[in-house]
Amino acid sequence: MDGGDDHSPVSAWGSSLCSMPARTGHDYLQSLARMKPRIFLHGGRVADVRGEMAFQGALQSMAELYDLQHDPRFREFMLYSSPTTGDPVHVGFQPATSRAVLVAKRKAFKLRTDYTFGFMGRTMDFMNQMVTNMYLDRARFGLRGQQFADNVARYYEHVRDNDLFLTHALINPQIDRSRTSAEQEDAFLHLGKVRDTSDGIIVRGAKMLATMAPIAEEILCFPFGAGVAEGDDAYAVAFAIPLDTPGLELVCRESVASPPSSRFDHPLSSRFEEMDCIVVFNDVLIPWDRVFIDGGPGSRAVANAAGGGMGITGGVQTAARMLSQMEFFCGLAMKLADTIAITGFVHVQEKLGEMLSHLEVARSVFYGSEAMAFEGPDGLWSNAPLGQGAFHLQTMRIYRRFVEIVQLLGGGGFFYAPTEADFSNPESRTLIDKYARGRAGVSAEERVRLFKLAWDATGSSFGQRMQQYVTYYSGDPIRLTAAYYVGYDKDPLLDLVGRALGDTDSAHLPISPDDPGVPPPRREPRDPHAISAQYPTSSQVRPRAEH
Ligand SMILES: Cc1cc2nc3c(=O)[nH]c(=O)nc-3n(C[C@H](O)[C@H](O)[C@H](O)COP(=O)(O)OP(=O)(O)OC[C@H]3O[C@@H](n4cnc5c(N)ncnc54)[C@H](O)[C@@H]3O)c2cc1C
Repeated sequence: MDGGDDHSPVSAWGSSLCSMPARTGHDYLQSLARMKPRIFLHGGRVADVRGEMAFQGALQSMAELYDLQHDPRFREFMLYSSPTTGDPVHVGFQPATSRAVLVAKRKAFKLRTDYTFGFMGRTMDFMNQMVTNMYLDRARFGLRGQQFADNVARYYEHVRDNDLFLTHALINPQIDRSRTSAEQEDAFLHLGKVRDTSDGIIVRGAKMLATMAPIAEEILCFPFGAGVAEGDDAYAVAFAIPLDTPGLELVCRESVASPPSSRFDHPLSSRFEEMDCIVVFNDVLIPWDRVFIDGGPGSRAVANAAGGGMGITGGVQTAARMLSQMEFFCGLAMKLADTIAITGFVHVQEKLGEMLSHLEVARSVFYGSEAMAFEGPDGLWSNAPLGQGAFHLQTMRIYRRFVEIVQLLGGGGFFYAPTEADFSNPESRTLIDKYARGRAGVSAEERVRLFKLAWDATGSSFGQRMQQYVTYYSGDPIRLTAAYYVGYDKDPLLDLVGRALGDTDSAHLPISPDDPGVPPPRREPRDPHAISAQYPTSSQVRPRAEH
């Protein structure tokens, strides 16, 4: 690790932020107006994110999501009083001191995911849950010094009491996945610590993706899951800073909702496109009070331990998003089938039945995890995590199947769907009205709008990105599923086999509990090597000197 440029002290707490509880959409947009992040998009620099066409849909939707918490119909369960300021803040931050709090949180999460039909995965609620998890599990950050746990607690309060919108960047750029961070060709391809200063740590390198970064206010960086490899202490850095911190640069991908994008032609992508960016840190100073893991000796162990506890409350928000999306897909598929009168065919009924049965299992797990909630020794309530975790693993596959079914039912119908402009042209409209209509009673405009919705959900660039997003939502599905097996308490199931073989007597016959809300055995953070996690540990890693 070499030295970097000197930096004058900065306060990441932000000069412009006074306490702003439970914001409106207007408050959020005003806050963005004060920021000057360095963003590259489509070959140029973005001067003002609020004026950039590619971000309009997401900006508008985010503003609407902020407004929801002030709607008199919802604010009673969406807000609670900040224990620090007494002001109303979002319930997602509230530690669940009772089952009733779990219910309020679930209602608040589901309301916002329903608002976007689950098509915005990285709204404020996603990161608010991550910050709340970190706070509830902050002792793990204190392993290398109490000040780091205190920083986590202060940051949680800061995000809660200012209702900030965060993005996150966990994953290192792929570059060469057969090597650890330290083994990459350049020591700072992956984000790592360059050195300590009296003001904080200097970091350099990149993280692979940060969704919504251009229109977020802060970025939280953390090493992914429990996957920091041996020898990578300097890459085990965790911190949060404003997105316009000097030295921080964002490089956007091509928009999947390139303007002009009307709601008629692109009903989902015109509203819910969530930009993804590469995040580059050019010797960025992270002030000490924003450092959660400092990249010093032993930081790898801290990161792997802290990463293991990231899912304490996040599962409900994640499951709410997926459930909203499954509900939408079931409605979409049935409406589409009805529009062209194919619901009478048995294979169509079988496919729709397949979707609905997946949906009902999902609903049972979603609400069942609440019915199985339990109170921990610290007096905090948690939803039953194992079913939620399993649901999450299943949905990576189910989502692909839902996409496939909608496409199988739609056939070529997606492609005789002229544009809004063609409907406005009286000459083409006559043709369209006659030949592009659906079954008796369904006009051409109704059929075309519906098929455009279905294509945006499944086949457009937006729909395809969404599918990839669901698959890789929280990591590589293969290793996540393997980790589920590795971390599972297998003994009760193995005992059954012993009884069947006559090795144990029937005194071991289990009685199903009166109260299903029994805490599962605590799963310790997984050993990365047990599932060949983030980095391979054997044959694929070659010493750098050989290359
Ligand atoms: C649309 C989208 C948005 C995203 N947004 C964010 C975001 O906002 N913030 C963020 O931090 N991340 C984000 N991600 C990244 C996401 O977290 C990663 O995609 C996910 O963790 C998987 O990592 P990867 O993409 O690097 O795949 P890799 O880990 O590189 O995997 C690629 C393939 O290689 C295999 N493989 C690689 N290494 C191993 C190994 N050691 N053992 C076995 N198999 C291996 C995998 O099984 C897989 O088949 C986003 C991803 C998508 C698709």
